[in-house]
Amino acid sequence: MNIHEYQAKKILASYGVKVPRGHVAFTVDEAEQAAKQLGSAVTVVKAQIHAGGRGKGGGVKVARSQSEVKEYAERILGMTLVTHQTGPAGKVVKRLYIEEGCAIARELYLGMVVDRASSRITMMASTEGGMEIEEVAARTPEKILKEVIDPAVGLVAFQARNLAFGLKLEGKQVNKAVQFMTALYNAFVNSDASLVEINPLVVTAEGDLMALDAKMNFDDNALYRHEDIIELRDFNEENDKEIEASRHGLNYIALEGSIGCMVNGAGLAMATMDIIQLKGAKPANFLDVGGGATTEVVTEALKLILSDSSVKAVMINIFGGIMRCDVIANGVVTAAREVAIKVPLVVRLEGTNVELGKKILNESGLAIISADDLNDAAEKAVAAVR
Ligand code: ADP
Ligand code: MG
Repeated sequence: MNIHEYQAKKILASYGVKVPRGHVAFTVDEAEQAAKQLGSAVTVVKAQIHAGGRGKGGGVKVARSQSEVKEYAERILGMTLVTHQTGPAGKVVKRLYIEEGCAIARELYLGMVVDRASSRITMMASTEGGMEIEEVAARTPEKILKEVIDPAVGLVAFQARNLAFGLKLEGKQVNKAVQFMTALYNAFVNSDASLVEINPLVVTAEGDLMALDAKMNFDDNALYRHEDIIELRDFNEENDKEIEASRHGLNYIALEGSIGCMVNGAGLAMATMDIIQLKGAKPANFLDVGGGATTEVVTEALKLILSDSSVKAVMINIFGGIMRCDVIANGVVTAAREVAIKVPLVVRLEGTNVELGKKILNESGLAIISADDLNDAAEKAVAAVR
């Protein structure tokens, strides 16, 4: 799960990470009130969307007076902000963060992820703050410093000092960096984050360290023990179909192609998407109905796929292991009764109760294109969208 910058800053601040003062605003009025309350000479008006690169896209503006705060708030609130992370469609800005302006001496980068290769939390730092870190990683990977953290002991002071020296921090800043990184690490572990990114981490004109931007992602599987974090979820920032899918316990991710996929098992779903691509078309979604799906869940899954207007054909690819083919077949028939299926439906069933599944489909009167194997199914689905 993803949250907004202002929410991340609040969590981080509660662990002792230094952030500028600020207030969230949902209207221009609230933005003006927030600026008055801050009373700072310089105020920054920041679009709150779940994507980075807002500055470049015109979503972060530095205001030097109350009237400028109003002007920028009016301009940014409601705008469709396009950044390299939103895709060309952009995102409509519905919230602003009104923040105290900060005198910046240097912009650095500090991030933390759970590194799958080492199975450990890794802290990353770079002097190239404020830029896209992916670009730094691609062009000058030597400029990204890493410390792999042992879970048994946590972040050790010397690791933080290593990074601080690498960031060319000096004197008192080194200890401030150790405190900052330790607070960040504690926030990460205690909130079951999967990613934290401070870009930029700034050295202020006064020589302090401060998080000027903050991004946090959380491990969905640990959210059950963080009710306060679950409340921060902003449904406006999520795909409607993905929200609907999560209500039924489906693993669904919307994509841009034309073949709707219903598959069981993440591995088989990935293979199905690959083979669709190999045969010259693109999948409209990733969908894993899971191992123990019921007829109702299968029905919801098919309804979800069919509600996507870019779906020109559906490919059902089920291997009945725990999941039985007759359950899938019943789900397909039930869904077909509830919503008219207007696109070709290619079905490949294999495994437990496959004969019964095929019989249910054959006797349903539905116009189904049946396939013998994965290759055959993909070819038929791709031919159907041509
Ligand atoms: P994004 O990464 O989405 O573009 P940031 O929060 O990093 O958004 O803001 C972009 C840039 O705006 C920062 O790199 C920084 O230079 C400037 N900025 C952001 N917040 C402040 C602030 N409170 N005071 C001064 N400058 C800021
Ligand atoms: Mg940033």
